[in-house]
Amino acid sequence: MSEITILTQIINLIYPPVCGFCSQINNTFLCQQCDNKFMQIKTATFDNYQNVPVFFDEHFYLFKYKKDIRQNIIKYKFDEKSYLYKSFSELFIRDEQFTNRFIENYDIIIPVPIHKNRLKSRGYNQSELIAKDIAKRCGKDYCKDVLIKKNNIVAQSSLDDKLDRIRNIKNAFVCGKNAELVKGKKVALFDDVFTTGATVNECAKVLKENGASFVGVFTIAKS
Ligand SMILES: [Zn+2]
Repeated sequence: MSEITILTQIINLIYPPVCGFCSQINNTFLCQQCDNKFMQIKTATFDNYQNVPVFFDEHFYLFKYKKDIRQNIIKYKFDEKSYLYKSFSELFIRDEQFTNRFIENYDIIIPVPIHKNRLKSRGYNQSELIAKDIAKRCGKDYCKDVLIKKNNIVAQSSLDDKLDRIRNIKNAFVCGKNAELVKGKKVALFDDVFTTGATVNECAKVLKENGASFVGVFTIAKS
């Protein structure tokens, strides 16, 4: 047994893996009870926004942004519950539409970045943790620092008006040091929540300008 395996077993004894949503001990980070509960509200929807001029080519999401899902995403982002990422990625992995019809078509997964000041205060980028875990489990390439959020703007979640959100995020993203990695690639861009789509659209614009051949967005929820 390798040292890492032994170490993992010791850590598991002290901190056993739990379902992030209800804290019951569970090796997959998603217990049957919570899985059943979320199955009932899951929509697993594909949207392509054909009548709206957007830079991304499709959007897949699992849930409508309400009730339990909304509460858990808020906890995940604002309540220092970073461990929830494993439970969220498990929801994606268990969804056949996601694994067979969405992620299969992509070369690389990248997260929507957050500004470095927010990363400092929160301690983690919620989208990065999920995107990385999904990439690992689906055998896809993962890359961060493809995009950088250059302006430390007002949090989109604090703005209700659609036009305010579009203005607030406009030109907020630029190429990062790994931008050339998306050239000619089909890119799956992950964000936690899709509200007006302004954030992912700005990201998709930069990705397309950098030669990405196809950009699909996936989010846990859509409001
Ligand atoms: Zn549970």
